[in-house]
Amino acid sequence: MNLAGMHVFVTGGSQGIGAAIVKDAAQSGAKVTFGDIQDAQGESYAAILRSEGLEVYYVHCDVGILESVEKAHEMAVSHFGIVQGLVNNAGVNSSVDPVKMTSEEWDRFFAIDLKSVWHTARCVLPAMRVEKKGSIVNIASIHARMTFPKFFPYAGAKSGVIGLTRNLALDEGEFNIRTNAVSPGYTLTPILENWFKSIDQKQRQLSMDPQPLKRFAHPSEIAKVVTFLLSDDASFVNGADWIVDGGLHARYA
Ligand code: NAP
Repeated sequence: MNLAGMHVFVTGGSQGIGAAIVKDAAQSGAKVTFGDIQDAQGESYAAILRSEGLEVYYVHCDVGILESVEKAHEMAVSHFGIVQGLVNNAGVNSSVDPVKMTSEEWDRFFAIDLKSVWHTARCVLPAMRVEKKGSIVNIASIHARMTFPKFFPYAGAKSGVIGLTRNLALDEGEFNIRTNAVSPGYTLTPILENWFKSIDQKQRQLSMDPQPLKRFAHPSEIAKVVTFLLSDDASFVNGADWIVDGGLHARYA
């Protein structure tokens, strides 16, 4: 129960990696508020977890819109008190032609995958600074370090997430607020399954072949690392980017 009594706010928690983080944090003793744009799925997931005795609360939260994040944060604080742990997980893939991408599409994509980190931090930092305690975990990606063709401009946003992690780690450290990133590799969630479906049928095998562990991650394997970073067990980990990819990044070609 290394998160006992802590209030953790997770974005994009209705499915996939976020849902696993919500469950693992709650099973570790945290009160968890999670936000998403998939409201029906979020409400029903919250009901399931509550029936298992976990303390969870669902709020609508579009991370790309500051006002939506502010409202979700207010509801979270009214329900469980000030937020002491924040997980910026919500994100979308992008695979567009840079010539065809419109300015509006660029703005919306970067609002969700990058600006959102600032939106949520802006809400939670004032109370964390007063309390002199807090832990922020940003879900980046192995694409922050290496990427593949036809995935524009996903790597740009995820590299930015790691940059913002460093900014916050340095600036908020004096308030005992730690900020770290987790960079998952291939993880079996709807976003990955949808990507496999959207391209060549051979892609699943092509993606599997170079995996050192000969499998993709289960979302719970990412969640365990996030829970550790949220907890006091990670009290001297700050400004780090933890790669959780089964060793894929160790491979040259
Ligand atoms: P997922 O299965 O698509 O789940 C993400 C959740 O966030 C979905 O419920 C999604 O709703 C929601 N969401 C999308 N836009 C949102 C917004 N504007 N505001 C709030 N919620 C929003 O994705 P995942 O695989 O769990 O990925 C979670 C994070 O891990 C993402 O940041 C992703 O980039 C990163 N990541 C994933 C992998 C992987 O292999 N799965 C690898 C590296 C990094 P919709 O279904 O409506 O989009």
